[in-house]
Amino acid sequence: MSTMAYVALGANLNEPVQQIQHAVLALKSLAIDSIITVSPLYRSVPMGDVEQPDFVNGVAQFNTDLEPLALLNALQEIENAQGRVREVRWGPRTLDLDILLYEQQVIEEPRLTIPHYGMKQRSFVLIPLADINPQLILPCKTELKSLITREMRAELIQI
Ligand code: AMP
Repeated sequence: MSTMAYVALGANLNEPVQQIQHAVLALKSLAIDSIITVSPLYRSVPMGDVEQPDFVNGVAQFNTDLEPLALLNALQEIENAQGRVREVRWGPRTLDLDILLYEQQVIEEPRLTIPHYGMKQRSFVLIPLADINPQLILPCKTELKSLITREMRAELIQI
């Protein structure tokens, strides 16, 4: 049985748009029939106090037969293959792949929290998610579009 997953894509080093495009090709190998929907990409200002380039962000949606932890492992392999080194929290990265949603499941495990812990506050997640599925309802029953503010829309520039 397959499950629909939404994955956040982020990059701010080494040609970030190409990093994301490359990651999308890799994600196809995790998707049933290699079918994947990708949102428009956006430029966003980094969170936190670390001096670093702007991020390129987007969201991908696909059906997969990987269980949640197997999906996390596969995403980390893709990150590592694209040269990701884990150093500073909220620091620069060639590629960041986070599982936002796994159908309507709520998962709280040491390595995995779904829905992703920061997603409800992050314009660069909510807006591309709404581009793919404007009617989306989160597992907590909140309507996605009710979380998107005017300020959030002003923060992002579509590429
Ligand atoms: P980050 O540096 O933001 O990519 O965080 C990576 C860490 O977050 C990894 O060690 C994961 O085990 C953990 N993590 C917890 N929940 C998630 C999730 N929903 N998607 C991706 N990583 C997650």
